[in-house]
Amino acid sequence: MPMNALPVRFEGNSASLPIDLHMHSTASDGALSPEALVALCKVRGLTHMALTDHDTLSGVPAAREAAEREGLCLLPGTELSTRWSGHNIHVVGLLPEGARGPLVEGLVAQAEARKKRAAKIAERLEKVGLVDALARAREQAGSERPLGRPDFARALVAAGLVPDMAMAFKKHLGAGKAGDVKSLWPALAEAVGWIVAAGGVAVLAHPLRHGLTRRKRGLLLDAFRDAGGQAAELVSGFQNADATRDLSRQLQERELYASLGSDFHFPGGHLAPGSMSPVPRTATPPVWTHPRLAAILAL
Ligand SMILES: [Zn+2]
Ligand SMILES: [Zn+2]
Repeated sequence: MPMNALPVRFEGNSASLPIDLHMHSTASDGALSPEALVALCKVRGLTHMALTDHDTLSGVPAAREAAEREGLCLLPGTELSTRWSGHNIHVVGLLPEGARGPLVEGLVAQAEARKKRAAKIAERLEKVGLVDALARAREQAGSERPLGRPDFARALVAAGLVPDMAMAFKKHLGAGKAGDVKSLWPALAEAVGWIVAAGGVAVLAHPLRHGLTRRKRGLLLDAFRDAGGQAAELVSGFQNADATRDLSRQLQERELYASLGSDFHFPGGHLAPGSMSPVPRTATPPVWTHPRLAAILAL
């Protein structure tokens, strides 16, 4: 796909851009296999995509093969869970050269942390009545992939302890609840360092969905940029236009590139690959013009 398929600056009609740089597959907590995700992207008219499963690149080889078949440009990626100032912060790594250097060990440590965290969540949920919590969450996952909070949420629903996923998070898994185990992730700056050392671009994921005030979000963006982070998701799925404009100003002040993605997990919800709100024309340059990405995204 020639580079001219993607604009070098936002023109204010980004809802129709053929690119999505944040999506999940069955390699983490998504519902579609990497191949099926690529096929759906093709059907949706995308030409460029990043696979960004939680703390792993294990879906990338299958996605790459499918993307080559379908004629899509695939950018390897991952979404790392990190800690900053008491908050659970997600950082997307866009990794044209895949996992290299300290990121390789970092991903092993993330998998270990995820295992320990699942055991701890299970222990806590047993106390609120979910017997055999770990086995039940595994059953919901349906594979050997690392368990996440949605698997426990589904187990709570299946056991009849809560009526739906939303209530599972509200009562047991959301911020500050028993199943909200977060102490095991690396510091934000460390995870950003892994991505940058691997030749990638670190993107602060969905800055509006971390439950921060504007001021605190500014401090997070400062810390992220100071750690070497290069971009942030100006648009993540559908969001309020005023909030987008305000976030855009915060990125401009820090000269961060603007990324965008749906954070797609499963079909049937209100999001599909490529679905997202428009980007204002005043936005900072698109992340695909970053020198580390321009070459691979031009292929
Ligand atoms: Zn996230
Ligand atoms: Zn995500």
